[in-house]
Amino acid sequence: MKIFRSFLSAILLLISLATSLWGMKAPKKALAEETRSLPILMYHSVLKSQEGTYTVHPQTLEKDLTTLKGRGYTSVTLAEVKGYLKGEGELPEKPVLITFDDGHYNNMHYAWKILKKQGFSAVLNVIGCFTEYSSSHEKDHVEYSHLTWDEIGVLARSGVFEIGHHSYAMHAYKPRFGITKMPSESAEDYEKALREDTLRLEYALLKKSGVRPVAYAYPFGAYDEESEDILHALGYEAIFTCYERVNALKKGDATKLSRLYRINRDGTLSTEDFLRKHGL
Ligand SMILES: [Zn+2]
Repeated sequence: MKIFRSFLSAILLLISLATSLWGMKAPKKALAEETRSLPILMYHSVLKSQEGTYTVHPQTLEKDLTTLKGRGYTSVTLAEVKGYLKGEGELPEKPVLITFDDGHYNNMHYAWKILKKQGFSAVLNVIGCFTEYSSSHEKDHVEYSHLTWDEIGVLARSGVFEIGHHSYAMHAYKPRFGITKMPSESAEDYEKALREDTLRLEYALLKKSGVRPVAYAYPFGAYDEESEDILHALGYEAIFTCYERVNALKKGDATKLSRLYRINRDGTLSTEDFLRKHGL
């Protein structure tokens, strides 16, 4: 019995030696593999009545999600993406991030339960003045209402949605295109305008929805050289653009956070055609 035990401990010693030797080589291998391809999909409205470039049918949304899962994709949150880019967290092999822009009430009416059922989360980028209007003027209407401040709070606390900033009143073509600088404007005036607009929605979300936005999404994807620095100074690390590419992420390289590419989910395409078009 004694002999058997020492034989066993010799074997165990050999195994642990072999493991630690293998482990010493592991970091090199691990470093080389610390990259991820991250598609970020950009949805807007989810409606049964119409399909268009910015509107998908609820069944199409559900098919997108089930097909993505079938192809090995795992839904991730922006918090997880941030963690990975800062070198503090992990991402699954094939991550996918879902976003919804403009804060349509139909996202709550249709998308919420589909996301929940399929185990997906999403970033919901809301617009301050649309939210204010819906909060004070209309009853919820699935076709045209935007989410109210209360509803944004409910969605955020459901654990399915993270809330993003899509400007208070700069989601417009006039007097400037989105948040871009007007030609006649000084750098100081531009900074002041963007800062005030950003803080206005930020405060309203905190006060009325109990939510702190996790990202900024440029209206129409438009921005200027100065925009990024102004938003960084206000604490917005993650910024969504509308460049239709898959993001190539490197663990620990947070520079990518400032320009996250997104692919618009054009509702006129079938799930198959949409995913094929973008190599997903
Ligand atoms: Zn928008």
